[in-house]
Amino acid sequence: MTKSTSDFDVLIVGSGASGLSLALALADHVDVAIVSKSSLEESATFYAQGGVSAVVDQTDSIESHVADTLDAGAGLCRVDVAEFIVQRGRERIEWLIEQGVPFTTQQSPDGSVDFHLTREGGHSRRRVVHAADATGRVIETTLIERVRAHPGISIFERHMAVDLVTFAKLGVTPDRCVGAYVLDLDRDLVRTIGAKCCVLATGGAGKVYLYTSNPDVATGDGVAMAWRAGCTVSNMEFVQFHPTCLYHPKAKSFLLTEALRGEGGYLLLESGERFMHRFDERQELAPRDIVARAIDHEMKRTGSDHVYLDVTHKPVDFLTEHFPTVLEKCASFGIDITSMPIPVVPAAHYFCGGVVTDVRGHTTLPGLYAVGEVACTGLHGANRMASNSLLECLVIAEAAAASILSTIAETPSRPDIPVWDESQVTDSDEEIVVAHNWDELRRFMWDYVGIVRSSKRLERARNRVDLLHNEISEFYGNFRISGDLIELRNLVQVAELIIRSALKRRESRGLHYTLDYPSRDDRNYARDTTLRAGDFS
Ligand SMILES: Cc1cc2nc3c(=O)[nH]c(=O)nc-3n(C[C@H](O)[C@H](O)[C@H](O)COP(=O)(O)OP(=O)(O)OC[C@H]3O[C@@H](n4cnc5c(N)ncnc54)[C@H](O)[C@@H]3O)c2cc1C
Repeated sequence: MTKSTSDFDVLIVGSGASGLSLALALADHVDVAIVSKSSLEESATFYAQGGVSAVVDQTDSIESHVADTLDAGAGLCRVDVAEFIVQRGRERIEWLIEQGVPFTTQQSPDGSVDFHLTREGGHSRRRVVHAADATGRVIETTLIERVRAHPGISIFERHMAVDLVTFAKLGVTPDRCVGAYVLDLDRDLVRTIGAKCCVLATGGAGKVYLYTSNPDVATGDGVAMAWRAGCTVSNMEFVQFHPTCLYHPKAKSFLLTEALRGEGGYLLLESGERFMHRFDERQELAPRDIVARAIDHEMKRTGSDHVYLDVTHKPVDFLTEHFPTVLEKCASFGIDITSMPIPVVPAAHYFCGGVVTDVRGHTTLPGLYAVGEVACTGLHGANRMASNSLLECLVIAEAAAASILSTIAETPSRPDIPVWDESQVTDSDEEIVVAHNWDELRRFMWDYVGIVRSSKRLERARNRVDLLHNEISEFYGNFRISGDLIELRNLVQVAELIIRSALKRRESRGLHYTLDYPSRDDRNYARDTTLRAGDFS
């Protein structure tokens, strides 16, 4: 591997809604680099179907949107943060339209044209702005077009950030983030990229679980890098599981929309028996976390690795008209949803916790920002309300850009960053270790740290993750790095943070449910679970 070095004003890691919108807000004023470990498009943003929540209807109010957000967050949302973000929703939607995003509209009886709004779980009214059922795809591709056309943005595709460079690592005080080591996956070389400010916009970590709705890039790299650099992280135990992902060996992360249950779909065991009535009187229409927990319970009880979602009692015309995408996707795997039940499994969907930031994206490390799903601003608390996440990406990216532009001139100068040192490492002849550990990690996280937890299962997971941690550290120290090894190292780190956080919360609240403490305990636990560098080695 050879090395190369470059310098920018701002280095952004990640090209989803947060990274792209931040780059566009900065690039008229400063030099920006975006590194993205796959193609620019590949991100959770691209797959978002529902839309962006925002107060755009005259009969809606900021107070109502904030109240719904706080209600979903089960007592842990920060009110000031929710207000800050919700107040800026309309302005961000208008900004997206200026960039060229064609949101779905409708004509009112008086002839005026308004946004067509949908209603999703937790919202007390229709307030989700969308572009048909492919909102994320449209936002992502529109912003990419703008980013590619901007002369002030340098793009590094198939470049994976490995670790942040900090003053502490260079022996300089006080500490500050001054760049990152980045692996060029095609040329197999590690670049050193220096920057006055770095921004983590790396998304979530769904790949830490066996089943996830997230794309392959969601390996928690940002949280792991920030943690290694000494940042504080919070609320990692609050992982949102979507109840129904298609279960098929060849189907990676295809979500079966909640509307299928909304329109009367049944959940069935392998025996053909319905079971939701045993868990909630709303049956299949109970909230997401309750349905996911019920499915998980039945899968563990019966030893089965999936349940079924059955819509065969609905007329074929109805299914064809309302669910063309589901129909087509399932058919491509040989499942005719008009005549056979669909195998489904819950899947890790969204991480409410992450790197602690304020509403301007500042982490606890000067020079380092975090924006989007990687961050924990306090908006989501213990449970995210649907479609609040893209809103958060857009609002915090704009606020972070303003903060960066107002402070970048004062950035202290720094010594040269040493190039990546691999004089002590050799090529690995044991890639099987990485593949095996990936599988093992995702399986025990699913079994022991999934939807329903217990102290015993969490302790088991902690023992296993400690072993993996040691094994991977040794591997990392002795062999040349690869994309898979970097991701596994980060996943193990994130798993450890989730397990430690879950063990600290001795109650059930929002997305964290444990059999040992099944009730909410406001007296002792109405607070964030915060982990700081040095809390454990
Ligand atoms: C199937 C699905 C549907 C969803 N639907 C909705 C919805 O309707 N509304 C809503 O509000 N939210 C929805 N969400 C959640 C929402 O899409 C995400 O929270 C949001 O898009 C996250 O945006 P982001 O910019 O933070 O990260 P992402 O969009 O995930 O982008 C992360 C980027 O970082 C890159 N990256 C990661 N690590 C590295 C590294 N080490 N080096 C370089 N690059 C790296 C990735 O390649 C990617 O480009 C959905 C999520 C999924 C998975």
